[in-house]
Formats: sequence, C-alpha cells, structure tokens
Amino acid sequence: MVSIFLQSPTFLTPLSYPFSSRSSTKRTQHGASLSLRVTASRSSFDVVVVGGGIIGLTIARQFLTGSDLSVAVVDKAVPCSGATGAGQGYIWMTHKKPGSDVWDLTLRSHELWHKLAESLTDDGLDPEELLGWKKTGSLLIGRTTEECVALKQKVHELSEAGLRTEYLSSAELLLKEPAILVNDNTGAAFLPDDSQLDAHRAVAYIEKGNRAFATAGRYAEFYNEPVTGLIRSDGDSKVVAGVKTLKRNLYGKKATIVAAGCWSGSLMHELLKDCNIPLDVPVKPRKGHLLVVENFDSFHLNHGIMEAGYSNHQSASVSGLDVDERMLSISMTATMDTSGNLVLGSSREFVGFDTEADEFIIRCIWERAAEFFPKLRDISLEDFIRNRKVRVGLRPYSKLLASNAPNQKYLKPAFGMFTKPELFF
Ligand SMILES: Cc1cc2nc3c(=O)[nH]c(=O)nc-3n(C[C@H](O)[C@H](O)[C@H](O)COP(=O)(O)OP(=O)(O)OC[C@H]3O[C@@H](n4cnc5c(N)ncnc54)[C@H](O)[C@@H]3O)c2cc1C
Repeated sequence: MVSIFLQSPTFLTPLSYPFSSRSSTKRTQHGASLSLRVTASRSSFDVVVVGGGIIGLTIARQFLTGSDLSVAVVDKAVPCSGATGAGQGYIWMTHKKPGSDVWDLTLRSHELWHKLAESLTDDGLDPEELLGWKKTGSLLIGRTTEECVALKQKVHELSEAGLRTEYLSSAELLLKEPAILVNDNTGAAFLPDDSQLDAHRAVAYIEKGNRAFATAGRYAEFYNEPVTGLIRSDGDSKVVAGVKTLKRNLYGKKATIVAAGCWSGSLMHELLKDCNIPLDVPVKPRKGHLLVVENFDSFHLNHGIMEAGYSNHQSASVSGLDVDERMLSISMTATMDTSGNLVLGSSREFVGFDTEADEFIIRCIWERAAEFFPKLRDISLEDFIRNRKVRVGLRPYSKLLASNAPNQKYLKPAFGMFTKPELFF
C-alpha cells in the first residue's frame, strides 16, 4: 500500500517501473557500501519514503536509478521487520485471474522480477545467490473432482491470457513431484515460469544498490525512527513538506511517500487527523504464519506448491475458535528455499496488529501439510519443534484492490494515491 504526496505530478513516471533496466542494475553493482547502514546529518531530500519494506525500498531504488533525485528511507524498525521478512517469496501468476483488477499489475511485477534476475545472469552474477531466485515453476494442487475441473478451466484461462501452462493428471503430477500424495482425483495446474525469491536476500540486494548512491549524497536511511507526524509547508497548509520522526524532521522537497505496508492506513489516519482532510486509506493487517523446517532431508520438492483451496479460504474448523470473526484460513503451501529449508504455509486471519506466534495455527499448518506430504507424518513432534522456525507477518490487505468499490479510483494507480497536495483529489 503506497500513498504519495507530490509537490509536482511529473514525478509519477519513475514509479511505473519499480525495477531497473539492465544498465541501471549494473550500475548498482559497483561501489555499494555493503552492509553498513547509511545515514546522514542532512534533513532535506527530494523524496522521503516512509517504510523500508520491499515496496519502500524498490520505490527508493527506482528514484535512484531512474532519476537524479535524492532519497531518504525512514522506517520505524528495519527492513524485513514487516510483512516482507515473513513472506514465502512466491512470484506467481497461477493463483491470479486474468482480467481481474490486479492482473495487469501482477503481470508487470512478474515480468520485472524476471528481467532483474535475467539482467544479473547477463552480468555474470548469480540471481540465486543475490535474490534467492529460483525458477521452480508452480503447482496448484486439486484433490477433488470439482477442484480439478476448476483447475482445467484455470489452465485454459491462463493459457488464453498468454501464459505457458498445462494441466497435469495425477500420474503426471507424481512424476514431477514424487513426494506428494496423489489418488485418482488429484490433478494440478502447472506454470513452469512461476518463480520464487528469498525476501531477505532480495532486500539486502536492493539495499546494497541504494547505498551505492550514498557517497554521492543522494541516499540515506533512517532506521528505528518511527514517523510520528507530517510537516506542512506553512503550518496549517495542506501541502506536505516532509515528515517528523521521533528524532528529527525530514523534508521531502518534491514528494513524501507512505509505503508503510499494513500500517499505512492507521499511519495516514494519524498523520492527517489535524489537517482537516477526510481521507480513508482502507488497508488492514492480515496476519500470516509460515513454518521453516531447517536441516530438512526427508524429501525434496522440485516446485513451489499450493493447494487449489488457497483461493477459497480453507477454514480451520476447531471448536472454540471464532473463525468467522477472525476469518481464519489455513491452506497448504510448500517449497524449499535456497538453503534447503522446507518452508510450509500458511495462515490468514484478521486479528489486528498482533504478531505473536500461535501454537494452534502452527499445528494446523503442519497437519495440513502432512495431508499432502505423508512423509511428514514420520517426523516426531520433538524433531519438528527442534528444527522449526516460525515466521509471522502482517500482510497489507485492502478490499479496494480486489473489488469495484466506488472510490477505487483513488487507489488504482500503483496501489497508491497520486495527488497534488493542495487538492487531495
Ligand atoms: C506469511 C506470509 C506469506 C507471504 N507470502 C507471499 C508470497 O509468497 N508472495 C508475495 O508476493 N507476497 C507474499 N506475502 C505478502 C508480502 O510479504 C507483502 O505484500 C509485502 O512484503 C508488503 O511489503 P511492504 O513493503 O508493503 O510492507 P512491509 O514489509 O510490512 O513494510 C512496511 C514497513 O513500514 C514500516 N513502518 C510502519 N509504520 C511506520 C512508521 N510509523 N514510521 C516508519 N516506518 C513505519 C514498517 O516497520 C515496515 O518495515 C506474504 C505475507 C505473509 C505475512
């Protein structure tokens, strides 16, 4: 979720291309300041980006590589402390619907990640090492006749939309992914071009590229500095001149961008409450758990995998849980990351900003995965607990991205609001 306060609308252009072309990628390879954080005593930049998740950092990257503007990224914690660090890293088309309102954006994002990975290879670099990039292909698994009929239809639609895809019978699926349990009712949609990345590696790569611009005075990071208010250009005007953090004022001479993930809604509400500007940013946190099983050698997965029911919100039906209110759903997702860890997902629920790991949900994810991969049942609970790590994150969720709500036009461009500050149209 991105909100943008522009001093001039001409700065919209770079945001349409969140990743660089080959030449600009190459530029970021040289002279980057490795893992050092880059901060600055100055307080005035062309652009201030609030939020150092994957969205904020790639916006910063695009300004740096695609213009000569200076950029500051400010985060209340550090990159990967939000949803980005918890994600499974699927760069997938298979669970998207051609023609839906996120289709074009998803397609573009898919294309840009692929281009970035290809450009690294062309430059003699290893995208798997730098981004955790693996072109595994995706398998969307159906286990009932109805699901398989729907998957065949999906394959047809995706293929009509121009994607490489095929429907796999249970025998064909077993050949591709021997660890999965199949029967006569099992089938899969297979998209060979779907890929995955490791968010921590991808963020480190983007940060390193951004930091290469620090020596020229064009980039600075202000981490562990929550933004607490907006600076308006002359006291109570509606022109946004920057942000206040707990430690300093940061001025964005040309634009101030809020890319604070699931916090964008509450933050914008807080920032605008004294401005007399009625603006609702309808984004809320959708909590998700993932399990990472380290030192995993019981079986190998060749693809990224997801159950077809993922889009149908499988509900965890255990008595005592208010699943309706929480809208808790658990669906199987499974992949191996670049370190050989088994990554199992995932849950989705609305429980506010809570990020505590929930043992019940962890067990549901494990048991759901064991329905698909019977060898997991051979692993003792002690071994599982000893080798598991749990990732919990809050996805930025907004219905407006997926529906035709009347005020959707405010959010459509790049999931943000492109506004002249004096108008807030
Ligand atoms: C379990 C799980 C699995 C997922 N799997 C996938 C997947 O396979 N594929 C996929 O595409 N997506 C996946 N996602 C979704 C994806 O992770 C998010 O959509 C994405 O990371 C959002 O990035 P972001 O930069 O908008 O948000 P975030 O990463 O949350 O970044 C927002 C940043 O804003 C900062 N911030 C908040 N408030 C303030 C403030 N007041 N001042 C300063 N900074 C502030 C936060 O500290 C944070 O660093 C998954 C998410 C989860 C939880």
